[in-house]
Amino acid sequence: MENILYLVIPCYNEEEVLPETASRLGEKVNSLIRQSKIDERSRIIFINDGSKDHTWEIIRALHEKDRMFGGINLSRNRGHQNALLAGLMTVREYADAVISMDADLQDDINAIDEMIDKYLSGTDIVYGVRSSRKRDTLFKKATAEGFYKIMNAMGANTVFNHADYRLMSRRALEGLAEYGEVNLFLRGIVPMIGYSADIVYYERGERFAGESKYPLGKMLSLAVEGVTSLSTKPLRLITGLGFLIFIVSIGMLIYSLVRHFTGATIVGWTTLMVSIWAIGGLILLSLGVVGEYIGKIYLETKARPRFIVEEFLNEKE
Ligand code: UDP
Ligand code: MG
Repeated sequence: MENILYLVIPCYNEEEVLPETASRLGEKVNSLIRQSKIDERSRIIFINDGSKDHTWEIIRALHEKDRMFGGINLSRNRGHQNALLAGLMTVREYADAVISMDADLQDDINAIDEMIDKYLSGTDIVYGVRSSRKRDTLFKKATAEGFYKIMNAMGANTVFNHADYRLMSRRALEGLAEYGEVNLFLRGIVPMIGYSADIVYYERGERFAGESKYPLGKMLSLAVEGVTSLSTKPLRLITGLGFLIFIVSIGMLIYSLVRHFTGATIVGWTTLMVSIWAIGGLILLSLGVVGEYIGKIYLETKARPRFIVEEFLNEKE
């Protein structure tokens, strides 16, 4: 098996961490090369996501000094997910396996060894999963774990406590490339590709310098983006709600009629009560039906691959 490994690392205003990150990752890759687990042509590629500081200059200098380091400069800030995708799609023709990770080394780089071992034994996708969040603040832990739970409940199936620290083989990346959608949520799409997958656990550390580029606001928008770009479940929930209210309206109809005939109402109450519930339920139900079609249109416009063939056994004549 060929084993050129590329690391892709999106960077947004990371001048404080880059030199250290580069030297630690360089060491790691060199040690893997020495153990002949990966090819000498393995590389570490930083993606500059329109940083406003000296991130790109640092990347350029790293590249001048050591050809193991490379860089991709995006024309402007496009956000973590897009920067990551740009990296994956650009390097996929040169690499046999690609590992994506953050620039701040919060993801333990020692998990790379295990990822490589799993890759070498034939696994196509290896997810890095946080075993604990001891070092995250209570707030970050609660919001981040809530994030995964809500996402899953809303139909965006992601790997629990897995961020974008993962290894993908070249054919998995080619599968990913088939997904032409603009609203792309990598953590949701990658499990859809298929192929053999495995998990590696690691301790999530602290950012060793600089501050988080993912404040609560960005995390919320990632969650909304994740759900709305992956699934049409929220639309289906409307249908469900409409149905529920319609059932309630039938109950209300019976209740109002009973009250009416026992004379316990004033004129007009019964008709008002019944129409409010019935019409409310019907409106929601119809919205849900319209929503179902919109959901279909939405999924059609994404033009996702309908299948990816893993193997084809066929004897030609
Ligand atoms: N990042 C990026 N573009 C952005 C925001 C963040 O490329 O617009 C990168 C950032 O440089 C880092 C990674 O995404 O490598 C994760 O960001 P961060 O560590 O700030 O998030 P946190 O770990 O706090 O969730
Ligand atoms: Mg971080």
